[in-house]
Amino acid sequence: MSMERVGVMEEEEVILEQHVRSGDCNPSNKKKPRCPVKRCKQVLTFSNTTTCKICTQKVCLSHRFPSDHPATKLQEPH
Ligand SMILES: [Zn+2]
Ligand SMILES: [Zn+2]
Repeated sequence: MSMERVGVMEEEEVILEQHVRSGDCNPSNKKKPRCPVKRCKQVLTFSNTTTCKICTQKVCLSHRFPSDHPATKLQEPH
């Protein structure tokens, strides 16, 4: 009886390991949003992200001004 239980435990561990290896629950495998400025590789996190009021893009704090990031103007004259 005890051996059966051990067998089940091992099986669960193997499934969990395969799940981890598949990358489904690996947070580092997820695509992280980055600052749209080409030379800036700042990963946008909750604490260093600001939303531009002009183009509504999410940018890092050092590129928060429209002149510092490729801001696409929303109010384009037609
Ligand atoms: Zn930036
Ligand atoms: Zn902008």
